[in-house]
Amino acid sequence: MKFLNILRYFSLTCNKQKEDDNRFPRCEKITKTACTFDRLDPAIKAPRVVIVGAGIAGLSAAHRLHQCGIRDVVILEAANRLGGRAYTCTFEGHSVDLGAQWIKGATIANPVFNLASQEKLLLIPTDLVKPFRGTFIHSDGTPVSDEIRDKSARIYRTILCHVKELYGDPDETAIHLDNSIWTFIMKHIELETSGMGAAEAEEVKNVLSAMMNCLKSSLGADLRDVPVDLHACSRPCLGGDTYLRDGFQSVVEAMANVVPKESIKLSQEVCSIKWANTSHEEGRVVVKTIDGNAYNGDYVIVTVSLGVMKDRHEKLFCPMLPDRKVEAIERIAFGNINRVYLLYDKPFWIKGEGTLRICWSADELADADKWVRSIGLIEEAPGHPKALMFSIGGPSAICVEQLSERCIARDVTNLLHLALNEPSLPTPNKIMRSRWMSDRFFLGATSYFQAGSHLKHMVALADGLPMFCDAPAPTLLFAGEATVPGQSGTAHGARISGIREANRIFEITRRFKGAPPKYRIDTCRT
Ligand SMILES: Cc1cc2nc3c(=O)[nH]c(=O)nc-3n(C[C@H](O)[C@H](O)[C@H](O)COP(=O)(O)OP(=O)(O)OC[C@H]3O[C@@H](n4cnc5c(N)ncnc54)[C@H](O)[C@@H]3O)c2cc1C
Repeated sequence: MKFLNILRYFSLTCNKQKEDDNRFPRCEKITKTACTFDRLDPAIKAPRVVIVGAGIAGLSAAHRLHQCGIRDVVILEAANRLGGRAYTCTFEGHSVDLGAQWIKGATIANPVFNLASQEKLLLIPTDLVKPFRGTFIHSDGTPVSDEIRDKSARIYRTILCHVKELYGDPDETAIHLDNSIWTFIMKHIELETSGMGAAEAEEVKNVLSAMMNCLKSSLGADLRDVPVDLHACSRPCLGGDTYLRDGFQSVVEAMANVVPKESIKLSQEVCSIKWANTSHEEGRVVVKTIDGNAYNGDYVIVTVSLGVMKDRHEKLFCPMLPDRKVEAIERIAFGNINRVYLLYDKPFWIKGEGTLRICWSADELADADKWVRSIGLIEEAPGHPKALMFSIGGPSAICVEQLSERCIARDVTNLLHLALNEPSLPTPNKIMRSRWMSDRFFLGATSYFQAGSHLKHMVALADGLPMFCDAPAPTLLFAGEATVPGQSGTAHGARISGIREANRIFEITRRFKGAPPKYRIDTCRT
């Protein structure tokens, strides 16, 4: 019975998704092959595929190609590790994630959740993260009552529903066309609190500021910079968020284990991708690394972050990318998120009770100089008995990269002293933090829509080249979280994109009974 319900749920989700897809600009090439489970006929010569980047998108592509029987694959990764923005480190003997941490949407509709459950990487029973978890406290140490917390939670959920309703409703969208998420939420907060007394309204607003800080640290952007109608297009997976037992690296390893070790080349930074050939000897694409190695292939799948694309696309590709692609790279924004872990000699919290929400007042939030005011949530690091952690997004995430560890420890300790009214709380004796913005292989954390961008730009990021009108089949393919409208900025978005491009290669190979002919133009630099 339970299984039947799951099946029914799954088919409902699929049908719903099909309907929703009509609202996106059509991209038949992307969606057409997504349900292919065949293997390549052994009589057909498999193409050679070069994948740039061994993050979730690159590894998902390689994993899927192997499943399809396409085994001539090489993955070139600039860093000396696998996983990209999925990065689990050891911090005083325990695993902590500096990048992706939650599976967003713990259901069978999420391909990362599926893989993790097949490989038995989940916590059993699955521990769903509660959106309103923790103790809410005003920054001066006054605790928030359960009543105010619950009222604020209801208001916040209602406002998020209003945001979602904008999606696919042209009349509503037109009203809010120039509004940012910030303006939209603030307007609704005013409406929802208008019938309350002044003191109660202020308390509710402060609680909601903590939630907005959390939204900022999941988007990686100042909420004033994100148009609400475009944010409404993201479609969160159902099912709540969950952790992996041993961190995100376990998913990365599960995919990498399927690919032969010799196919994965670490510390191989790609510096040139020639995707239209003029020479007779070379393959359809030639990919070169800064070490001077050259890899010929029939296809290249580029999975580097949007930050890297923005910084290097002019030098990386030959011929240069067409205007439509460059416009897309420039219009979609790439934001910043960092995560900080604080290690204590011994925990000063009781296990399960160490999660704290700081509720800032409007005046406090207006003082943008204080980076700690972007912290909405400090919580126990999953699986680490002596560490607390927080995520921070937008401009303050850049501050966190630049400050010394001593300053971070001092500022957070002062915050805790104030918020908990307890000056004797210890200072962390060690700090571990991510620095996604300053890492040249990422140059930021996650893509988002900014003013002037559009869904069509994200679709254009996913387009293969040359386009259909110029050649029978593409040679240069793109995957990565920023290429998946509706699911961008997530690990499952990255996985969907890798599978999508592997499926595309598989379909083209079947159609051409091997690799398509070379695509030649004469505008390449040598
Ligand atoms: C702090 C943070 C928290 C997050 N939290 C979550 C979360 O909880 N849940 C969730 O679902 N998602 C989360 N995300 C998003 C998720 O991590 C990403 O969407 C996903 O990992 C992106 O994978 P990708 O393969 O598209 O890109 P990447 O992981 O960036 O992979 C690209 C790879 O290309 C390599 N590369 C770059 N340049 C070159 C070059 N020239 N040559 C060769 N290789 C190169 C890079 O080293 C990298 O390994 C978070 C991200 C961050 C930063």
